[in-house]
Amino acid sequence: MKLTAQIKLLPSDEQAESLLRTLERANEACQYISDYAHESGEHSKYKLQDAVYHDVREQFDLGAQITVRALGKVADAYKTNPNTHNQFDIRGGFPYDSRILSFYTDRQEVSIWTLGGREKISYEVGENHRALLEQDKGEADLIYRNGMFFLLVSCQMPTANMSDEDVEAIDGYLGVDRGVNNIATTSDGDNWTSDQIDERRQWYQDRRDTLQSVGTRSAKRELQRLGGKQARFQRDTNHTISKRIVSKAKARNSAVVLEDLSGISERTTVRRQQRARHSNWSFYQLRQFIEYKALIAGIPVIKVDPAYTSQTCSNCGHCDSKNRNGSNFECQNCGHSVDADKNAARNIAARGAVNSPMVASEA
Ligand SMILES: [Zn+2]
Repeated sequence: MKLTAQIKLLPSDEQAESLLRTLERANEACQYISDYAHESGEHSKYKLQDAVYHDVREQFDLGAQITVRALGKVADAYKTNPNTHNQFDIRGGFPYDSRILSFYTDRQEVSIWTLGGREKISYEVGENHRALLEQDKGEADLIYRNGMFFLLVSCQMPTANMSDEDVEAIDGYLGVDRGVNNIATTSDGDNWTSDQIDERRQWYQDRRDTLQSVGTRSAKRELQRLGGKQARFQRDTNHTISKRIVSKAKARNSAVVLEDLSGISERTTVRRQQRARHSNWSFYQLRQFIEYKALIAGIPVIKVDPAYTSQTCSNCGHCDSKNRNGSNFECQNCGHSVDADKNAARNIAARGAVNSPMVASEA
């Protein structure tokens, strides 16, 4: 499973200026390569490299590896959108790899290639992301946002299967149902309703509609800023929920049990999320947050078959679609009456006890 760690760079004024010039120059080079790719119809990285590598290095005074990354970035863009003349924002993110970026996690410092030479820059990182950085690291995107520099680092998480001893060490199972009325409900009754989120989402939607109808440049900028704010709000909420769930499981020495939604529906969700930043509430993100917080906390995550969890009585096991009526569950067999999402979460927890557990799947 790959997860992204975000770190904030703390450059001096001179270093910040050098980073910004480097980012701008690299993106100018991308635009130059893109112009060529569009005109020539040559889209593969190697063909582009043959054609313009020396040109780019000379014209933009870039290092060999930065030039290779620029060629890669453009080739990727044409892989996704072959029929457009791809444009590169002069301050857009730029990919770095281990040949132009090194981490010194013990002293929270990176060494990064800039036009002025290698710079050693210290950084800030949150507690969870610090743990991610200790794993194997892949590419990192250098991002410039609101006058600050960030690195989004792709980290490989270990995939660990639970041993029999791990299973024996567990005292219980905390089931989590991810519904529509509720973002999440646990088998012991914690729940986070979607109401507040929906209100906020509606507010963003209305504001976006207004700005779109205005259509001026400043409205477009405001629109972009709004998208970022909404995404951060969603992230924060998912972080809060996942943190609470995992810390509760840890305190009780329980495994977290989730529905295994790794079918088509989930893949659709992921793709939709990539397509639109202002996507609907993201279950996928919540699951990801639960998984990596659990991994760091040493709490197993078990995925179970989600079929009929909402129609089955958690008291007597009777399964009937008539058991469920909106947000209420009332068993047609034993009369057990309970909140529908809580009933589902209990079924999920019970299934965790009989399933063969695993910590994380390859994503
Ligand atoms: Zn029943």
